[in-house]
Amino acid sequence: KLPQAIELLPKVQAFLEETKGLYINGEFIQSKAGKTFDTINPSTGDKITDVYEAQAEDIDAAVEAARDAFDHGSWSKMDAAQRALLMLKLADLMEEHKMEIAQIDALDNGKPINEVLGNDIPNAVEQFRYFAGWATKNMGQVLPVAGNFLNYTRHEPVGVVGQIIPWNFPFMMVSWKVAPALATGCTVVLKPAEQTPLSALYFAQLVNEAGFPPGVINIVPGFGPIAGEALVIHEKVDKIAFTGSTDVGKGIMKKAADTMKRVTLELGGKSPNIILQDADLSTAIPGVLSGIMANQGEVCSAGSRVFVHRSQSEEIIKQMVNYASKIQQGHALNFATQMGALVSEKQLNRVKNYIEIGVEEGATLACGGKSANNGYFMEPTIFTNVSDTMTIAQEEIFGPVVVVLEYDSLDELVERANKSNFGLAAGIWTQNLKNAHSLAAKLNAGSVWVNCYNMTDPASPFGGYKQSGIGREMGSYALQNYTEVKSVWINLD
Ligand code: ADP
Repeated sequence: KLPQAIELLPKVQAFLEETKGLYINGEFIQSKAGKTFDTINPSTGDKITDVYEAQAEDIDAAVEAARDAFDHGSWSKMDAAQRALLMLKLADLMEEHKMEIAQIDALDNGKPINEVLGNDIPNAVEQFRYFAGWATKNMGQVLPVAGNFLNYTRHEPVGVVGQIIPWNFPFMMVSWKVAPALATGCTVVLKPAEQTPLSALYFAQLVNEAGFPPGVINIVPGFGPIAGEALVIHEKVDKIAFTGSTDVGKGIMKKAADTMKRVTLELGGKSPNIILQDADLSTAIPGVLSGIMANQGEVCSAGSRVFVHRSQSEEIIKQMVNYASKIQQGHALNFATQMGALVSEKQLNRVKNYIEIGVEEGATLACGGKSANNGYFMEPTIFTNVSDTMTIAQEEIFGPVVVVLEYDSLDELVERANKSNFGLAAGIWTQNLKNAHSLAAKLNAGSVWVNCYNMTDPASPFGGYKQSGIGREMGSYALQNYTEVKSVWINLD
């Protein structure tokens, strides 16, 4: 029996009462065609509220507003220090309203409110504080060129940025995208995922309250092939930053090529999480489990392939199953819930389909595999007797499903762990420093976590090798995504 929800805060109730408008040029407005779509609570399958749906003409209005703020408006003239102050003010407001945001994200996404409060919101707040610091420090160089010239570089903002984000961390993804763009002086048109548009619209209220000039940040909920694509092909958008599935990312890259937009992509993964023989199992077992089960497994960097030494596999699998069976599933608004529902019926069906394929291909279901009747719940699921070539060991499932792969020697590990089209992340559990560093160097992954997993920090870059993406978010590396470098030559003769 799933635990019941707790009450919504009055401010959240009021927020959900009206049809939610698009946030364009500092105002909440209806879409031009007046069309709306429902947003659904995955914990129950019930409708939460209506949201106006942006179509190409609305995207056009948002881009014009962002263009104007960038080219002529107060944003283009504002001192970097002033931009930083606004970002800090916004971070304070986000922190002040964390309970409302947490309820909204839990309701819209199905993720446990504890996780939103403990991870997503503090992370989002810190993005703004960290990148506010960079606003005054994204500076060029004076270069030692030959001849009697002064040559220097200017770091200029790339312009109007279109940002398209997924549904798995609705609020946190807004901050990962918006904060570095603002720090460099860009203006933004952001399209949240159609499954989870609400916290981005709450964020828009805070943007207004913080006092950002109109047009600097525009939030346009809508569907991928309509609103998303309109943004990707728009002639007045200079850059697209996308987080989502690899297939959609590839399509975006092709379409953006027509206007030579700058493109950064943060895509899927099938990350290895390796338990070496000398690992401390008391931390490794909960570590690998939370590496795949956190956020219902709807994490691009989830450690979905767990490698265990053949001699230890029986014991490790027993402990993993024991741990998985204790995970408390339930309504996202309940503080006792450790794992919530998947985001949508479509996503639940996708995960169920992969579980069927796993069984058909001959893997053993060590635990889980069943879904609930009300809400889009899937049990924590562990597959054993899996080979590297099985579909469930190759494709991203994006749910609470892990495969356990056995190895015999350290030598085979690197090749097998790297045998994937993806390269987003990897985990290593060991007490041996030499093995930790040597494996960390050899794994093809944008992040390697040793005796920890899914760690992120605004100061540290995150992104993928191979088909997991292009570019790095966070850290000083993220500034490059939003900067054009201009080389200026002065003839001194
Ligand atoms: P998922 O399949 O898990 O929903 P997607 O990659 O489809 O992941 O979605 C991530 C984001 O990309 C969402 O905001 C979605 O609306 C958007 N999107 C989907 N298709 C397109 C597209 N063809 N062009 C632009 N954006 C898209």
